[in-house]
Amino acid sequence: MKQLYGVIGNPIGHSMSPDIHNAALQDKNINGQYFAFQVEPRHLKDAVNGIKALGICGVNVTVPHKVAIMEHLDEIHESAKVLGAVNTVKREGDRLIGYNTDGDGFYKSLVKVLDKPISELSILMIGAGGAARAIFTTIVRREPKQFDVCNRTPEKAESLIAAAPSFQQKRALTLKEAENQLEQYDVIIHTTSVGMYPKTDAVPLSLERAKTGAIVCDIVYNPIQTAFLKEAEKRGLTTLDGVGMFVEQAALSFKLWTEQEPDSSLMRAIVEGKLGGTQC
Ligand code: NAP
Repeated sequence: MKQLYGVIGNPIGHSMSPDIHNAALQDKNINGQYFAFQVEPRHLKDAVNGIKALGICGVNVTVPHKVAIMEHLDEIHESAKVLGAVNTVKREGDRLIGYNTDGDGFYKSLVKVLDKPISELSILMIGAGGAARAIFTTIVRREPKQFDVCNRTPEKAESLIAAAPSFQQKRALTLKEAENQLEQYDVIIHTTSVGMYPKTDAVPLSLERAKTGAIVCDIVYNPIQTAFLKEAEKRGLTTLDGVGMFVEQAALSFKLWTEQEPDSSLMRAIVEGKLGGTQC
């Protein structure tokens, strides 16, 4: 029998998840199909019951259901508990278990461009939203030399760094404070929506003071080459685009459901083909 998978969100029409998961299922010769389901918040509980009743093997969860779905699941894995958000649901028998692969997905994409262990790196993160929380909690477990967070609303950066009470090498900064001491950081991770289509000219801060050899990451992937990454390239810095995180978090979901490692380069090529270096 065909194995069914999907993504639930609202809106969901532009999701690239069906493209990359269906290609990976086919590539791995798995008799399965992945669908996009638009689910209104008022129907979330019924949708979860539907996943169970119809025997759907796994779903991804996106905006606005990542937090709200938690109360409807049978179990929350540690990866989602620490974030207070679920992006992957796996069915085990009659039980639905919530996981979060966002932080590990980013980490998997980051290590590909690192030439030093995390413990030797000073990191700055711009932004303190849901994606930032996933990245922060995942990376502090690897004990970087320093991990500072700056945000337009500094109180949110304060509350984010407080989420890792046992990790001490951290500060909450304003955007201006971070910009003025950028030469301290080996890795700069941008996690806000600034620069996302259609406002593609916007950058979160100036890279004028970034140090030579710094790595600049942007988790925005529409466009793939954001204005922030273009500025970093112009300054000769190493860059990491947001497609890496998108593909790796999807690959981790795929592995949870199928116990098979998908070809992430195939998934990446599909995203690049769809975005075509432009915006949609
Ligand atoms: P979120 O929880 O809503 O957080 C938004 C963040 O952006 C907050 O820090 C917010 O600052 C900041 N922000 C928004 N508009 C701003 C502006 N005009 N100037 C300065 N800061 C601004 O969103 P999220 O879920 O973390 O997602 C953030 C971005 O990451 C989105 O573009 C999303 O597409 C992308 N993302 C990519 C991946 C991937 O796989 N590559 C995964 C998840 C998310 P305040 O606190 O001051 O409001």
